[in-house]
Amino acid sequence: MMEVNAAALDYKPIKINNAGALKVWRARVLKSNCAECYGLCCVGLHFAASEGFPLDKAPGKACPHLQADFRCGVHETLSERGYKGCIGFDCLGAGQRVSRVTFPEGSWKRLPGSSKLMFEAFVVMRHLYELLWYLSEALERCQGKRLKRDLTALLVEVDGLTFLTPEALVGIDVNALRLRSNVMLTEVGEQVRGVYGNGKAAPAALRKRLGRYADFAGASLRGLDLSGANFRGAVLIAADLSGSVLAGAELIGADLRDARLHGADLREALYLTQAQVNSAKGDLETKLPDGLERPVHWR
Ligand code: SF4
Repeated sequence: MMEVNAAALDYKPIKINNAGALKVWRARVLKSNCAECYGLCCVGLHFAASEGFPLDKAPGKACPHLQADFRCGVHETLSERGYKGCIGFDCLGAGQRVSRVTFPEGSWKRLPGSSKLMFEAFVVMRHLYELLWYLSEALERCQGKRLKRDLTALLVEVDGLTFLTPEALVGIDVNALRLRSNVMLTEVGEQVRGVYGNGKAAPAALRKRLGRYADFAGASLRGLDLSGANFRGAVLIAADLSGSVLAGAELIGADLRDARLHGADLREALYLTQAQVNSAKGDLETKLPDGLERPVHWR
């Protein structure tokens, strides 16, 4: 059994001196690294048999494909085997953080008495990392001193929580943090969409349908200028966005499973995550924002 080298940990509280420092911090901290994790998502999470995962798996029970070195034994064939949910999942770095920092003494195999707490801490850490992802992007893109100050304060506060003990981590009121974050994320979303025209370049019939939780499942949005469009929480499952421009389009919580992003320009899209990208389809012509990677299955 391979254990993670806890002595190699290098996590320090965030310091935001300038925009460059924030970008470096995002690239270093908010990036999953399965090689430094105890396979926490493959053990700790609950999966019900579904389109994205073919088995029922109870929380705390290791997936049968998890190897002794905590790597996935079917990584190259996940899609063919019906594990699309695994392709779409991304912990943003929460897994290695819990493995390396929260539990430096060892894995759930080495510490069976702590495994339940480890998995619960991972779930909370995943939520905190998601907030860190959105808050740090909002800080990079917001305008106005008051908003910058408030976002900085909340980002530092949430980052500080990630250093808590496991017992303290599982006691965090994540919903309260989400509510506080959402106020600022919404304001930044309105700012950014406004800069990019609030979707005004889209066809009139489509503009009427834009907005929070809009349903575009299977819709053809091919080759459109969707700059500044509001896709907050939108259903974009299997939508065709090939060749579209999504500069300043807000995608927080949008469901992009099997959406076609071939040749689309998402470089300036707002609140896009690696998990959303992983769950969509694209190609070498798809333009992604800095910090997001082209999934292997797109190549
Ligand atoms: S199939 Fe692979 S990635 Fe998915 S839960 Fe099992 S071990 Fe993890």
